[in-house]
Amino acid sequence: MNVMNQKLTGIGMTSDRTRMRMIERLRQQGITDEIVLTAMREIPRHIFVDNALASRAYEDCPLPIGFAQTISSPYTVARMSELARSGKPIKKVLEIGTGCGYQTAVLSRLAQEVYTVERIGPLLTKARRKLVEIKCSNVRTQHADGSQGFPDMGLFDCILMTAAATHIPQDLLGQLDVGGRMVIPVGTQQQHLYLIERTPQEFKETCLESVKFVPLLPGRS
Ligand code: SAH
Repeated sequence: MNVMNQKLTGIGMTSDRTRMRMIERLRQQGITDEIVLTAMREIPRHIFVDNALASRAYEDCPLPIGFAQTISSPYTVARMSELARSGKPIKKVLEIGTGCGYQTAVLSRLAQEVYTVERIGPLLTKARRKLVEIKCSNVRTQHADGSQGFPDMGLFDCILMTAAATHIPQDLLGQLDVGGRMVIPVGTQQQHLYLIERTPQEFKETCLESVKFVPLLPGRS
């Protein structure tokens, strides 16, 4: 096996077996969507963190990715993906907060088209490189403040935000298709995950478990 392949497939604490153990843990934690579990079983999470942290990539915790940001824990990624899918294939998903690109890579296995927006330029550059490395060819990225969504791309059947907003951004609701779902952490000190479902009549809000995300920030850098 050449060095490049070995980096992707992993060895020791980044190996296939370690990834299998993560999947078993996710099952114990209540994740049941086999499509999500398969995506997470196949995507090498360790390549999305710095080499020095690669051996910790499959632990059930967030890890630093630079610029005071974090990669979400495996459970958080699985839970949000499961809520986004709700047992159905996704046509077009918008992710706000690309970060290191791991959640994006998982979404690329669950959806036909993935649009992702990140406000920190160097993070996005790194994420793009990783997504190319593992051949996620259905992803389009944008360096922008994602609270306005990804304008001019039409409506999305799924919107997922990976940073906590103080309120649900109205611009984003406008980009959600009828029958679509938004998964978004809301709050400052106390945060909760919200599921918003757009029906022909209304935006139905469901408040789920308490969560801890980095804040959604304005502008881009
Ligand atoms: N899914 C990512 C989570 C990264 S943390 C991962 O697993 O790596 C949240 C990300 O949201 C950070 O990278 C942060 O820079 C980004 N972010 C915060 N506010 C934003 C905004 N207004 N628009 C776009 N991205 C934003």
